[in-house]
Amino acid sequence: MRLASAMHNGRATYGIVVGDRLIDLGRSIGSQYPDLRSLLAAGPALLGQLREQDAGIPLDQVTFLPVIPNPDKIFCVGLNYRSHVAETGRTESEKPAIFIRFAASQIGHGEPMLRPKVSTDFDYEGELALVIGKRGRYIPRERALDYVAGYSCYNDGSLRDWQRHTHQWTPGKNFPATGSFGPWLVTADEIPDPTKLELTTRLNGQTVQSSSLDLLIFSIPEIIEYCSAWSELVPGDVIVTGTPGGVGFKRTPPLFMKPGDITEVEISGIGTLRNPIADEAV
Ligand code: ZN
Repeated sequence: MRLASAMHNGRATYGIVVGDRLIDLGRSIGSQYPDLRSLLAAGPALLGQLREQDAGIPLDQVTFLPVIPNPDKIFCVGLNYRSHVAETGRTESEKPAIFIRFAASQIGHGEPMLRPKVSTDFDYEGELALVIGKRGRYIPRERALDYVAGYSCYNDGSLRDWQRHTHQWTPGKNFPATGSFGPWLVTADEIPDPTKLELTTRLNGQTVQSSSLDLLIFSIPEIIEYCSAWSELVPGDVIVTGTPGGVGFKRTPPLFMKPGDITEVEISGIGTLRNPIADEAV
């Protein structure tokens, strides 16, 4: 099942994507479950009863929002593919490098990713994101996938100069409208083994990153075990699992995103997240 959040006629809603239509759950059950996060918190049994309640809204009439517009937390994993660690000249660490994104830095599929006026070093990072479906603390890796509601595509757009002002990456990862998340999540029952997924990032149609998910240094269960040791995970939390080699700032010459460009992050079994690049209007 594909679940998405969207705007329609000025109203924020969410629903099931079937073909080229969005079955509008916000309209049918929004009084009980106001957003996708609250629906996921109700558990997967409810989802099975929800299919095909109405004809739906054509997808070309909605504006996609980030899959989870209002997560309690967004954890991102840095340096989680050897191909990316090598190109940055760093060494692998014993524990995953976790940094935080704010929800306000996110946009949905089709919306412009914004290059801020204080930087031109705007880089792409295609990644697999997962969404937590069940509250948990000290989750052992053996049971970690039971806590995943589903998977989506993510472009962890990064301002490289601001990322590297100091050893804290937070500024370069949190400019408004730099983290694209979508188009939808595919529920975990359809992806029993995420290591089988294939990730491709394209800039203006050219493949710039390509990797399979079995090449993660810290696996999804290990990341969930690690993060849940120091932070209680709750439904709707997002974990962005890291980017493979091929980022723009380590190329010669550097390949940065500029207004008019189109980025795509495609993951097998999930779909393609596509965004134009625009300058921030400030
Ligand atoms: Zn990243």
